[in-house]
Amino acid sequence: MSSLAAALAQRIGAAHVATDASSCALATSDLFDWPDAAPAEIVIRPGSTADTATALRLLAEFGRSIVPRGAGMSYSAGVVPRAPAVVVDTTRLNDISIDAGNLTAVVGAGTTWQALAAALAPHGLRAAQASPVSGSVSTVGGTVAQNLPGGMDGILGLTVVLADGNAVCTGALALRGAPPFWRHMGPDLTGLFLGDCGAFGVKTEVALRLAPDRPGAFGSFAFESSAAMMAAMVEVAQASIVSRAFALDPVRTSTPGPAAAPRRREARPEPAWTLHLTAEGATVPAAEAAVEVARGITTRHGAEEVPATIPKALRARPYSIRGLVGPEGERWVPVHGMLPLANARACLAAVEAQHAAMAAEMAAAGVSTSHIISSLGAYITIEPMFYWRDALDALHLQHLSEANRARFGSQAPNQAARDLVRRAREVLSAIMDQHGAVHAQLGRFYRLGSRMEPGAAQLLHSVKAMLDPRGRMNPGALEGVQA
Ligand SMILES: Cc1cc2nc3c(=O)[nH]c(=O)nc-3n(C[C@H](O)[C@H](O)[C@H](O)COP(=O)(O)OP(=O)(O)OC[C@H]3O[C@@H](n4cnc5c(N)ncnc54)[C@H](O)[C@@H]3O)c2cc1C
Repeated sequence: MSSLAAALAQRIGAAHVATDASSCALATSDLFDWPDAAPAEIVIRPGSTADTATALRLLAEFGRSIVPRGAGMSYSAGVVPRAPAVVVDTTRLNDISIDAGNLTAVVGAGTTWQALAAALAPHGLRAAQASPVSGSVSTVGGTVAQNLPGGMDGILGLTVVLADGNAVCTGALALRGAPPFWRHMGPDLTGLFLGDCGAFGVKTEVALRLAPDRPGAFGSFAFESSAAMMAAMVEVAQASIVSRAFALDPVRTSTPGPAAAPRRREARPEPAWTLHLTAEGATVPAAEAAVEVARGITTRHGAEEVPATIPKALRARPYSIRGLVGPEGERWVPVHGMLPLANARACLAAVEAQHAAMAAEMAAAGVSTSHIISSLGAYITIEPMFYWRDALDALHLQHLSEANRARFGSQAPNQAARDLVRRAREVLSAIMDQHGAVHAQLGRFYRLGSRMEPGAAQLLHSVKAMLDPRGRMNPGALEGVQA
């Protein structure tokens, strides 16, 4: 063990410091493959803000780079260092403190969304903050650090340990002696750290707004074309009547290749797109009235109503990482863009045209494609997804059942498909950007600094330089804002 590892072990406990090769490789793995990845030098698992601060002060003394990590469920290289770094695995930061009367909770950054939902259920409450489907394992801190389609309005405050080891509180957590119920007293310092991909500090605590678990109503609609589906989705979003809308298309495999189309979609009649809506209300009739308005919109766009099995199932079981790999062990990776409502239709048409242009190459490499298109507000998220048969990584295998590990654990590498998917993600991301897209989960994949107006980019750069003057906090994350 190096002198740094020994000093860390002395401060936070030897059981919470790892230097073995497999821990160091797993701690920097991502669901996609990044050729410039470097393994961790040391992995630490602090159990409190105080432990995190102690460890980061030591890392400042030793001049080491730091990569914060939740569950590693992102696929934009935010958890992947390019040079050896110390990974701060936050999953032991999992305390949950609920104040049901004030509709607030303060949770450790490593708390999973599912653990939070389970703790809130007996109170008839849920987080007001939107959360990812991966929430069975992904963490509140990971989501807060990289943002998500749905925004961050349910976050009230943070505790963040900065690169120099100082712990700072923001928003609701910054007011001495007051219940943490209000974010916006004075400038919004919480907002500074939301979506920073860990480049500004390690979040250790998150204060969240809670909301009553309200009744829902559901509707599912089949469309003959993507254009009709998108026109309906945009109009539903403009009417602000549903809490969630998402659309699926069938998986497209141009010719039977090494990657069979995932089975879960085979039963759906092609070429239908299906749009799935969930509305919430103070009462069931109020929620149903909202779906009825949406039904009028979808009918005008030529939809046929189908059983609302999918949105009901998602509401009953909101978190699962079954989709981490396809049903036949295919690797899976998406790319996304959030579009202004007026541009979504043209953007989807351009994305589909690009798929058509690449269809022969995709078929040759055994890559299948599909989309999730969703709306959680006045914008549309377009998310093309790729599936292909390939060797799986340690992070995939860690989350598979024993039976599936045995089935899929020794698949042969498919470098051609991987390279093609890498290129397709870049091309599709650029097409979405041409239509005005913005992105969550920037990591090291989506560009930020080069897209910003120069004054704004300089301000961001100055903030980074102030918080992390030696550029040790997640180097490479948030392209263009490194000190
Ligand atoms: C099956 C599946 C379904 C998914 N569904 C969704 C979805 O519905 N919506 C969606 O938006 N995304 C989704 N994702 C993507 C991903 O799971 C989410 O973005 C999730 O929020 C990532 O959380 P994590 O804990 O895994 O973060 P990680 O991947 O570990 O980290 C993400 C980023 O945050 C930083 N970070 C992590 N923790 C901290 C911390 N405590 N302090 C500072 N920085 C930190 C990391 O350095 C990294 O840059 C899905 C992924 C999978 C595999």
